[in-house]
Amino acid sequence: MSAGPAGSLSDLDPSVEYTGPRAAFATLGGSPTWGLGERFHEFAAARGHTRLAVHRPRTPYGLGPQVEHYRGPSGREFLRIPTYGQVVDEDPLLHGSEWKTFWILWKAGVRVLLVGGTSGSCDWRRTAADEDAVRPGDLVLPKSYLTRDTMPTGLPGTELEFCLPRQVAIMDDPFCPPLAEVLRADAERQPDFRFRRIHGPDAGVVLNRWLAGNGFESLATCRMLEVSGRQIGMPVITGDCVSPVLARVCGMHLAYYHVVANWGTGLEPEDPTITLNRLYLETLPTVAANLELAFLDGVGEPTACRCRELLRVRPPEYARALSPRAAM
Ligand SMILES: [Zn+2]
Repeated sequence: MSAGPAGSLSDLDPSVEYTGPRAAFATLGGSPTWGLGERFHEFAAARGHTRLAVHRPRTPYGLGPQVEHYRGPSGREFLRIPTYGQVVDEDPLLHGSEWKTFWILWKAGVRVLLVGGTSGSCDWRRTAADEDAVRPGDLVLPKSYLTRDTMPTGLPGTELEFCLPRQVAIMDDPFCPPLAEVLRADAERQPDFRFRRIHGPDAGVVLNRWLAGNGFESLATCRMLEVSGRQIGMPVITGDCVSPVLARVCGMHLAYYHVVANWGTGLEPEDPTITLNRLYLETLPTVAANLELAFLDGVGEPTACRCRELLRVRPPEYARALSPRAAM
C-alpha cells in the first residue's frame, strides 16, 4: 500500500462497520457557515431544529469526522458533517478526508446531499458594467465543474473501490437540477436578505473544483480561467467542491450552492468587494444557515432528474475482462 493523491491507504481496514446514525438527507456544511464556528447547532435550535446526538464514527480509513444528527420542525431527520468532513490541523488529502466523509454518508443511506461553498469569480466580464456577470455577493447554482486535482471517484475497500467495469457515471447534470430549483426558491424566500443576483443552472456557470488548499488561485490561474470561460461561453468560479463523481457513484443527488465572496485572485485594496469581509463574517453565515435548514427540512427526494439514470450499468463482460480478484 502506498500514499496516493487522494490520501493514504496504509491504514485501510475494510472490516470496519458503520455505527453512526442513518438518514436520507445530509449536509456537509461548508465555508458559508464558517462564521458560526461550532455554534451551528445553537443557531439551528433557535429555529426549531434539535440536535439529537453527535457521533464520531470509525471508517475503513481511520477515525471519521463529526456527524451531527438533527430533527427539524417538520419531523424530518438529517445529518450534518461540518465543513466537508475536514478535521482541524489535518491535511484533508493526506488523511483521506473525502473517503471518510463519503463512506459515512453512503453507509448512512444518504440520498440527498447539500453542500455549500464560497468562491471567487473568474468571470471575464468583471471590468464591464455587465449586470449578467458573476460578481461578489451573488448566489450561484453551478451547471458543471472543472477539476484541478485527481479527485476521488470511489471508496477503497468497498464494492465502490473501482466500479468502472460495472457502472459508469455520466457527468451531465452533476448538480441535481430540480434541487437547484429548490435552492433558488428557498434563497428567494429569505426574509431579511437579497442576493445581488441568483445565477441558476441556466446561466451555465462552471465550478472549478479545489477542495483543500492553503491559498487563493494565482493571477495566472485566474487569467487562464477567465479566458477559458469566455471561449466556452461559461463563466468560471473557483471554490471548494466535493467530488461530483463520488456523489453519483454513491447514489446521491448533489445539491450545490456557492456564494461568490470575491474575485478569483482574492480581495484587492481598490476593490469595492473588500466590504464583503463583513458580509462573510456577519451576514453570510446566518443567511447560509437559514438556507440550509429550510432546504433540509422541506426538500423531498427528486424524481424529475437523471441522477440515477446517469449512473449507467455496463455489460457483465466488462468486469470479466479484468484479472480476477486474488484469492484471500
Ligand atoms: Zn437528482
